[in-house]
Amino acid sequence: MEIIPVDDHITAIDHELLERPGVGVTYVVRGEDIALIETGTAMTVPRTLAGLEQLGIPREAVSHILCTHIHMDHAGGAGHLAAELPRAAVYIHSMTMPHLVDPSRLMQSSRRAIGEAAWPLHGEMRPIPEERLRPAESLRLDLGRDVVLEAIATPGHSPDHLSYRERRSSGLFIGDAAGLDMPPYNLFFPCTPPPTYDLAAQRNTIAMLREQDISRLFVTHWGPHDDVEDKLRRAHEKLEDLVAVVTAAMDAGDEDVAAINARWLPEVRTDYPGALIAESWGEMSVVGLMRYEKKRREREQSQA
Ligand SMILES: [Zn+2]
Repeated sequence: MEIIPVDDHITAIDHELLERPGVGVTYVVRGEDIALIETGTAMTVPRTLAGLEQLGIPREAVSHILCTHIHMDHAGGAGHLAAELPRAAVYIHSMTMPHLVDPSRLMQSSRRAIGEAAWPLHGEMRPIPEERLRPAESLRLDLGRDVVLEAIATPGHSPDHLSYRERRSSGLFIGDAAGLDMPPYNLFFPCTPPPTYDLAAQRNTIAMLREQDISRLFVTHWGPHDDVEDKLRRAHEKLEDLVAVVTAAMDAGDEDVAAINARWLPEVRTDYPGALIAESWGEMSVVGLMRYEKKRREREQSQA
């Protein structure tokens, strides 16, 4: 676990997603009240709690836990955190809130999407009592001292995806809306996972974000990025690369996911977790986009 100072009121706790630094963070946002953004998985929660302790934040002082979306590496630790932070309400889009009350179906579908290699690194979710949950899609949370968090809809990566704009820093907690950007592992790509990935929505989201006045991006995987325009432009380009590679493969009747992924993310990787992420999250993205494109083509044909 490492504490990464971001701003006078924002701190990142590197909670070592996939058991390594540089992969996932939980952000701590402090006004008079304290909010956490992103929970990591069940496996990362002990390290997040150690981070809070190191920051001198008592467990009773955390009032809010915000998730950008329902995936295991963002909301998977929410139940464990809620159990340890007795005063905190948990926020997520109401569309996927039932999965935090009863995570069993979500865990089954996540296991299929994540694959057996990376699955054991995600841990078991813990159910959250309904009364601790709040819908986040219209959230405007005033933490005091001019620190205000506001939800904006950023669907595509998942239908429930929300990003949180923070007023005092003019930064955006962007979750996975524009993909991952992990300088320590030289990995940069938008993640387009099955079964709910929506290309049209993600294209709109990235275009919308490029029109906004955002000073910094607080990426979950991984860390703050100052060059907002550059990151969003590269996210757009890398996404269109994937679309070109996947549609060409489908036109040729090629369904070899590993080979398609190797054409999209050609850097050969042997390090851990770089190789696992490039393989597991990369292949998940190929499968997600293929599924989207297959359905789109079927719709087009049935209309013709
Ligand atoms: Zn995700």
